[in-house]
Amino acid sequence: MGKHYLVGGNLIDGTGAPARPLHWLEMDGERITRIEAGEGPGAPLPPDATSTEDARGKTVMPGLIDAHCHISYGVARGIEEQDLFASAEYRSIRGVYHARTVLLSGVTSFSDPGGSWFVAVAVRNAIKAGLFPGPRISAAARYLSTHAALTDYFPSWVGSPRSGVGALTEGESQMVNEVRDQVKNGVDFIKIAASGESSVLTPGGGSVPAFNAAELKVIVQEAHRLGRRVTAHARSGQSVMDCVDAGIDWIMHADFMDTQQADRLAASGIPCCPALTFTANVADWGHIAGCSQARIDRFRRDLDKAIVNLSYAWRNGVTMMCGTDSGFAVTPYGEWHARELELFVSLLGMSPLQAITCATRHSSITVDAQNTGTLQVGKLADMLVVDGDPLADIRILQDRTRLTTIYLGGQAIDRTPQPPMQRWPWERSLQISERELYQTTVASALCAA
Ligand SMILES: [Zn+2]
Repeated sequence: MGKHYLVGGNLIDGTGAPARPLHWLEMDGERITRIEAGEGPGAPLPPDATSTEDARGKTVMPGLIDAHCHISYGVARGIEEQDLFASAEYRSIRGVYHARTVLLSGVTSFSDPGGSWFVAVAVRNAIKAGLFPGPRISAAARYLSTHAALTDYFPSWVGSPRSGVGALTEGESQMVNEVRDQVKNGVDFIKIAASGESSVLTPGGGSVPAFNAAELKVIVQEAHRLGRRVTAHARSGQSVMDCVDAGIDWIMHADFMDTQQADRLAASGIPCCPALTFTANVADWGHIAGCSQARIDRFRRDLDKAIVNLSYAWRNGVTMMCGTDSGFAVTPYGEWHARELELFVSLLGMSPLQAITCATRHSSITVDAQNTGTLQVGKLADMLVVDGDPLADIRILQDRTRLTTIYLGGQAIDRTPQPPMQRWPWERSLQISERELYQTTVASALCAA
């Protein structure tokens, strides 16, 4: 693989610097080796430059990085499909199919903050080995959880299934042991279910802190001792603060922080991935997906609070990253990864350039900040050539037909569409109906027809 050049266009390099005219960008192998950009004519294209792509009139920017995508969930419609149905083997094979779907939407890296078995690790390894095309992945495994945590979904008489996304850890020794076992099995980082199911609320709003502060410290210390980073699902302000005190590397959601707590998070320098897309998809379009009205209403209330709390946090210095919680039926792979940027603009008040920085440089913290996230000499050539200007309309990044070329490590990826995927009955939960069929239900349905 020799040198390849992008010629012309407008360069958004992902560092947060304003866009500037691109004269040419040189890739040698998988890395960026030279960039000629800015006002003025710039140095001429080397005379031996034969392999080129004309990007005039287009935007050149880093590939998107989704800081929150669950590859093992398999477009789950509910907790049973997330936790019980489909084997580890099938989930892994299904995962490599879905990983390519993610790549085709312009996402060149994603972070998988927890899932069943070691599916994300297997998918990451299969892609790295060259068996299948897909984005760069950083992988966690089962969320460390307690009986008060998210992921302990089922009644106590059923317990926490081995196939579930939560690893129940009772006491510090089990927590330490789980971290060691996950590291042995190849995770890049540890995920903690630091707060509970959102139906069990603290008086201040937000789910209950599921671990005490001392337990969080033990987990983070052991992971760091073994050279692994840690993130947490933390919604209530108290659990965010406990995670900050424990030295967590980045935080998920944090949507019920008060202003003091947000100020403390900002002072800590710990970045935050709100993952608003999941909530907004249910609030805006849950009725189309068959979500219950109660769920839609609750998500709308949560989103309204998140907008207030997180826009304060962002304005006061919290580093924001773009993640979508893709992997559910309300957030299928490849569909909504760029919607988070739109929501950062429309709900948090960012400029399109600021949102792009969140989805590239900031989100790269969760995968590989040293080699990805910005277009700079020495970095991997993971980038997009976009037909249009996302600074004028951030929503165009959601339109896959606008992505002229997707480069992954200096190679334009094969854009052949994915074959349609058939779903098997044994991937699905055994629900007989969505609603109850009373005589009155039948009568009013027949009446309406
Ligand atoms: Zn998630």
